[in-house]
Amino acid sequence: MPNPFLERKLKLDILKSLRSPAKREPRRTVTCSGCKTELEPDVFALALNVCPSCGLHMYISAAARFTNIFDGGEYSEPFPCAAPRDVLAFPGYAEKAAEQSAKSGLSDAGLAAEGKIGGTYAIAAAIDISFMMGSMGTSAGGTVTRAAESAASRGLPLVIFCAGGGARMQEGVFSLMQMIKTSAAIRRFSGGGGFYVSVITNPTTGGITASFASLADITLAEPGALFGFAGPRVIEQTIGEKLPQGFQSGEFQLDHGFVDAIVPRAEMRGTLARLLALHAGARI
Ligand SMILES: [Zn+2]
Repeated sequence: MPNPFLERKLKLDILKSLRSPAKREPRRTVTCSGCKTELEPDVFALALNVCPSCGLHMYISAAARFTNIFDGGEYSEPFPCAAPRDVLAFPGYAEKAAEQSAKSGLSDAGLAAEGKIGGTYAIAAAIDISFMMGSMGTSAGGTVTRAAESAASRGLPLVIFCAGGGARMQEGVFSLMQMIKTSAAIRRFSGGGGFYVSVITNPTTGGITASFASLADITLAEPGALFGFAGPRVIEQTIGEKLPQGFQSGEFQLDHGFVDAIVPRAEMRGTLARLLALHAGARI
């Protein structure tokens, strides 16, 4: 039997919910950290997290990068990112890692994917700075190494979106060893004729710069990306000199031969597709 009273109450509840202040609140906008323009979240996401007003390339997740570069946004993850190993039983590391994982939704900072970019099958890896600022521990180092080894054994090109800072302090010497491990994997890959494109994103510093970020056949950089080893202040204090304007930006490194091209995020897919097709010998 229908209950008219209950039906009326349900209708009132629906009406109330439609009129509730929460429903009328404007959606939260994203503020550009460069020019402070307020951006609609949809507009921001469509622009791949690049400010349409000033062109500032802001943080974008590794997953969003993969979606952007692979054909139709389709890719698979050949090996999942492993959770960090607290090999030194470093005080507070396990708690910090768990907290970062809950916040970022990632197990660690290094992710890998494979799929077609402009029709050419490739392996990609990315460092996501939302997990412990993209510092490189055994997990992220392992992901990059496995990506290079997998590309080498299957004869596939490799693309790595570099980001992050130095070694993962909490993993001590095990973290420092990742520079050697990743560099050796890239060396073996290149020695076998593998084609590697490194994409420098903001910020790429420390051990990432000192290893796989600087070992590519082609090094691209996003506009305005910081690309260096030690911070400018440390260098100024060490050499006792003022550094030139724009020191360590991707553009500065382009002028000094460390970067081959500055590529805006919106053009990344097309640029990678052309480079991979050229390497594969296809007509473009
Ligand atoms: Zn802006």
